[in-house]
Amino acid sequence: MAECDTKNDPSEQNDFSEDGKNRTKIFCERCSSLVLLPKSAMYCKSEFFMPHMKKKKEGLDSNGEKLSDFWKVGDMFTFENVGFCNTVDNIKYLVCADCEVGPIGWHDISDKTAYYIALDRVVHKD
Ligand SMILES: [Zn+2]
Repeated sequence: MAECDTKNDPSEQNDFSEDGKNRTKIFCERCSSLVLLPKSAMYCKSEFFMPHMKKKKEGLDSNGEKLSDFWKVGDMFTFENVGFCNTVDNIKYLVCADCEVGPIGWHDISDKTAYYIALDRVVHKD
């Protein structure tokens, strides 16, 4: 299973992070629903296969892409809005709570302290 190294390595910064945390708010790219507030998630580099984005009721796409940039949240109550999709092999996919498009992230149900949001699948703005 993907393990995430959350120690703050300055070389692991990106345009959206400050001190290893998200600098701006994070929104759904489809409907602009607020997902996370600034500085509520840790940047983490970890490769994970994500199915292509779809409406939740259409089910998960069997095709997808490998993504490597994620925001890690330690508690699901940290999210302002988030929904869940079906669980596949212990992985629960996260979708937007409003428009139900996803997955925008994932969670391993055996680890209740790690929720991941893909940087490529959300919008970063103040
Ligand atoms: Zn949405």
